[in-house]
Amino acid sequence: MAVAVAPEVVVGAASPLVGVYRPAAPVFVAGRGCTLIDEQGREYLDLTSGIGVNALGHGDAGIAAALTDALATGVIHTSNLYRTAPAARLAAELVEHSFADQVFFCNSGAEANEAAVKFARRWARARGGEAKHEVVALRGAFHGRLFGSLALTDRPSFQAPFTPLMPGARFADATDLSAVRAAVTAGSTAAIIAEPVQGEGGVLPLAPRTLEALREIATAADALLIFDEVQCGLGRTGRLFAYETAGVAPDVLTLAKPLAGGLPMGAVLVTEDVGAALRPGDHATTFGGGPLVSSVALHVVGRIAQPAFLRNVRALGARVQDVLSSWTVLPQVRDVRGVGLMWGIELTTAAAPVVARALDAGLLVLTAGERVLRLLPPLTIEADELERGLALLREVL
Ligand SMILES: *Cc1c(COP(=O)(O)O)cnc(C)c1O
Repeated sequence: MAVAVAPEVVVGAASPLVGVYRPAAPVFVAGRGCTLIDEQGREYLDLTSGIGVNALGHGDAGIAAALTDALATGVIHTSNLYRTAPAARLAAELVEHSFADQVFFCNSGAEANEAAVKFARRWARARGGEAKHEVVALRGAFHGRLFGSLALTDRPSFQAPFTPLMPGARFADATDLSAVRAAVTAGSTAAIIAEPVQGEGGVLPLAPRTLEALREIATAADALLIFDEVQCGLGRTGRLFAYETAGVAPDVLTLAKPLAGGLPMGAVLVTEDVGAALRPGDHATTFGGGPLVSSVALHVVGRIAQPAFLRNVRALGARVQDVLSSWTVLPQVRDVRGVGLMWGIELTTAAAPVVARALDAGLLVLTAGERVLRLLPPLTIEADELERGLALLREVL
């Protein structure tokens, strides 16, 4: 039975939605650029981009046009039993701009990582049999919440209620490369997986020499290197791909959050060598790479890949760095770190109350773990909006 529900009922204990989220109070009904507007007409400055998804902000005209054009064809889905043009064009575009030779499309970040692990195991089997199945992840990693990706996510509290998870997941501390070396062996390791900039783990950019070492350790053990750029990829760091900063190319790379401008989409980029290990039937998804989402993603990737767009992200990032580095004098700020438009402010106290106070002040920011405030503004944010957001956050602090 359809009933009109007041917003407090929608988010309350009697909600018809399963209670796995704790949504904040505002109910957003409109958005433009970096501004979201709630039912009361109150405006909020959005420094979250829907957790790194709305890279082109809200109400982007190009996304609307791509959607309208795709809808007008009448073909929003065919399944992967048939070919459609937008997915092929998008794959070609991603290949042209990256290390990769082939792309698999899916529907989320966790799914992309599950596929990446399957691909790695498929590739490794020909080299070392079933024993060569392990995946080594890093301390602080977040790769998703499905059974494989959750096994590779370094949050015991997320894992504990759902064990047993995927076997063969191991963790090593990236600040101790000898520990990584010890965890990786030619006989047992299929892949190393890492986020070039850890997101949920507290916004931790891995040093270029760490990424280089991971590359070298993976190659020496005849294992694949998987970069999870679900959060840090597609322009967030000021480069189209985060790995470009260190000049270290992986064998497999996963994308999702910003890929289709807010529609669900993930991608796994692979080298020819990895692609050659995969056969029809090895993996599949009903929805992945459909013409509607692919059309929108073509617009998003086309915009972000423009050199001037990326240059602007780097310039804005340099400004954020300037401002935030002066905050380390504040007693409650322990550290600031980040790159491009992905920043973490580590506090000496819990971050959630600061997020709540920021919301009251009309500013949307994120946490990353217990004590880190995280900023992931739309990549299209204007310089003055960024200044205003940072000034507001400093006042809240
Ligand atoms: C968000 C995220 C995921 C999971 O993506 P979902 O679309 O939520 O499944 C995986 N890896 C990283 C680095 C992420 O930030």
